[in-house]
Amino acid sequence: MKTVKEYKEWYRSPEFEKNYTCEQKDFGALCSEKGSVFKLWSPAAEKVTLQLYKKGNKGDAFLKIPMEREEKGVWGYCTRENLHGVYYDYVLSFEGKEVTSADPWARACGVNGKRSMAVDLSRTNPEGWQEDKAPAYQEENVIYEIHVGEFSWHKSGGFPEKYRGTYKALTCAHTTLNNDGIHPTGLDYLKELGVTHIQLMPVFDYGSVDEAGDREQFNWGYDPVNYNVPEGSYATDAENGEVRIRELKEMIQSLHRNGFRVIMDVVYNHTYSMDSCFQRTMPWYYYRTKEDGTPENSSACGNDVASERTMCGKYILESVLYWAEEYHMDGFRFDLMGLLDVELLNAIRKALDEKFGKGEKLMYGEPWAAASSPMEGGAKPALKENIGLLDENVGMFCDNLRDAVKGHVFEGELPGFVNGGKGLEKDIVNGVRAWCKPEKGDMGIKAPSQVISYVSAHDNWTLWDKLSLTIESGKDSRKAIRDRLAANRLAAGIYMTCQGNLFFLSGEEFARTKDGVENSYNSSRTINRMDWERAYENTELRRYYQGLIALRKKLPGLCDKTPGAEKRILMERTGKNMAAVLVDNTGEKASEWEQIYLIYYAGRKRTEAELPEGEWEILADGENSFLWKNPETAAGKLTVSKTSVRILGKRKKAEG
Ligand code: CA
Repeated sequence: MKTVKEYKEWYRSPEFEKNYTCEQKDFGALCSEKGSVFKLWSPAAEKVTLQLYKKGNKGDAFLKIPMEREEKGVWGYCTRENLHGVYYDYVLSFEGKEVTSADPWARACGVNGKRSMAVDLSRTNPEGWQEDKAPAYQEENVIYEIHVGEFSWHKSGGFPEKYRGTYKALTCAHTTLNNDGIHPTGLDYLKELGVTHIQLMPVFDYGSVDEAGDREQFNWGYDPVNYNVPEGSYATDAENGEVRIRELKEMIQSLHRNGFRVIMDVVYNHTYSMDSCFQRTMPWYYYRTKEDGTPENSSACGNDVASERTMCGKYILESVLYWAEEYHMDGFRFDLMGLLDVELLNAIRKALDEKFGKGEKLMYGEPWAAASSPMEGGAKPALKENIGLLDENVGMFCDNLRDAVKGHVFEGELPGFVNGGKGLEKDIVNGVRAWCKPEKGDMGIKAPSQVISYVSAHDNWTLWDKLSLTIESGKDSRKAIRDRLAANRLAAGIYMTCQGNLFFLSGEEFARTKDGVENSYNSSRTINRMDWERAYENTELRRYYQGLIALRKKLPGLCDKTPGAEKRILMERTGKNMAAVLVDNTGEKASEWEQIYLIYYAGRKRTEAELPEGEWEILADGENSFLWKNPETAAGKLTVSKTSVRILGKRKKAEG
């Protein structure tokens, strides 16, 4: 048998590149009334047999068909029969040794994804799918991260029992808290909150939950099995390969109809295990290995995908396009983007722009990795340090702002600006301008479109849990809670007035807690569920978020994502525990205020802040984010209470 090293040598040889790089785009098994076509890429295989089954997991093959070897290492089979709903796998021979595998290009599969399913995609469309359209793109984006299994699991959400934790729950209109008919949950809740984009934690088929097992199982799903198939445990029937496809489409259609764009979390940097359909159909091609042949592990998951290999990059690019085209996804969040190469991400950006219009689909990711992963052929990783090499519309989560606001993400006790940290005033100002041309440490960011401004995500402590660790830790006194709430409002006041793309974890608006669990990826549903009762226990905080979001939509100076946005920062001031920024709010979009003045104050005693010249309307303070509805005015000096924000607007001068 060939060693890993020999495989690796072969794959990186110019001959391999020349002989086996193919442009073909119809891999997988697609059916229509005209017939069915199966295509698999495996230059390494000597023989491939297609096996057809009636079921997705049980029984023997009813037909075994030898595949024909075509050009460029492609294996093909076609028939005039429409094989929609027929399950299949491949038997491949490598140096005489046989391996059975599912299809890496599968678009449908049986329960747990071990067998693929031939599919006529037109039969999986819900009614009205042809007319499905996302709401118009808006610069005033606020991205809200949810997990399908978490969102509707808690009984108090009022979702139909059979739909709890499923795609279908997000198609249910007018759900209310414990079905009281008064307090909205689900879609109506999201509308009231005012978010514009729903980011879905993994909805591709992942491996850590047994789709045939009980409903209490839970996992975030960062362990891909079939990249181009929806996860089965969120479907009402995981056995019938058609159902999960239709139900995910129904969910997206419903989100679109309710005014939200939908972003998909994609995890192309590693797979559930090394023993994947990729490895089985093309040994060692899709994975990075060290020179001695052991797999690279910069994903901390034991297998790093080799995105820089031509056919692997092509796979990833086409997978993204597939979700955008077939499922109408409006954006992509790349998990551990730092393990993918810059060239590939720029190619994906270009392909999406060509197909759907420039910047129409959002693209951003985590610009880091668990460790550095050496790439072949001088490819550059999409790490933070390389942000300048990425397209202006490929963004990154900004950990600088996140940690400056609330403190270090791994060191629980380390505070940030809002909870007692010192010397962070400059970082807060830089956060507002999305780190475009900060005085020190220019990261090479081209525009706010490249930055995700946030303080919470599914990873690490929730914002509330982090504040609980850093403010009167261990205490539950009224004062402790009050101080944490004030810090929470200040944290929200900061990042929601930054020029980047706004992002937050579902429930941050009601002080979501995971009982201090730092990494809940496989914790119980009780730890992870959206607690709709808590949402109404913390109505004041939730209202504060609503007001901030509504106000932001009226402030084009903060929503401008172009490279010129940086010029809007007219003045900045920093002092002890205080940062202030003056922003030009004029532009094409109509706004009542021509300038905005932002004051962030984290001191423990109230203070006086000097205002720039002119009369200012107080649009929001530390407790009320709806003041803009009926604002009071101030000039000269303004008293600022402890741990609080002030958002002020200067009205346009009356014309004439
Ligand atoms: Ca699965």
